[in-house]
Amino acid sequence: METFNFEQYQNIVIKVGSALIAPDGMSCSTQYCLPLANFIKKCESLEKRITLVSSGAVAAGFNTLRPQNDTLSLDEKQALAAVGQSKVINHWQRFFDNHVAQVLLTAADMQNHSRSANAHRTLNTLHQHRVLPIVNENDTVAIEELKFGDNDRLAAQVACLINADLLIICSDVDGVFTDNPHLNPQAKLINTIDTIDESVLSLGQNSHNPQATGGMLTKLLAAQLAQNHGIDTVICNGKTEAYLPLLQDQCAGTWVVSDKPLDRENAARIRNTYP
Ligand code: GLU
Repeated sequence: METFNFEQYQNIVIKVGSALIAPDGMSCSTQYCLPLANFIKKCESLEKRITLVSSGAVAAGFNTLRPQNDTLSLDEKQALAAVGQSKVINHWQRFFDNHVAQVLLTAADMQNHSRSANAHRTLNTLHQHRVLPIVNENDTVAIEELKFGDNDRLAAQVACLINADLLIICSDVDGVFTDNPHLNPQAKLINTIDTIDESVLSLGQNSHNPQATGGMLTKLLAAQLAQNHGIDTVICNGKTEAYLPLLQDQCAGTWVVSDKPLDRENAARIRNTYP
């Protein structure tokens, strides 16, 4: 069995969900973002290239528009995202001395050759200038994405786009379990997954968190997309700072290992094969 070695990863996409950005579902909080920002800075000091995929726009906008209904219409979600997106970026900027940059993408952008090539070049240029790209969906126009999509998928697509070698999905659960840990106390954390097949996908449970868009299934599907492109994935608990042991070559979550060598030439070309 392979052992986890953080040193081998140089180009890392970190995805952080709304539950960590806005734990109360209404505004940005430093509670989980500050330690994650420190982890990012540590990675950067180790010469690793970091791209952050951050959710939280809808939640961050909530306090401003204060919609009356619990169930938000698509229009309301898009309006909330438009208000909240700048709050999310300003929130992240506070933790970094270097500049951060907002990169808003849609699935349609990723499928369009020239637009995705432009996005790739922009991300490259930002990294060359030591600017931290912070990616989110362009929710205002991404109807399908806001309705069905999730940032786990976006993060995997971005990882393929920039030929990343590791995707870290920071969740509010510890990783992939043998059963639903909220219902079954005997459920065990799976440390390593070699192949994401139907039986592994069936372990994906619906999210227990009403603020989150995706559940474990979307994380597994994202990891599967990454794996198909030779990119490893770590699914870990961002609330307990379970990304920190990575710096000591320990994986405290679930490590999805790709057996394929990263095909850098091919990765960009075939990145749109996500179902
Ligand atoms: N783009 C949405 C937002 O920023 C979140 C989508 C997701 O978390 O999957 O609120």
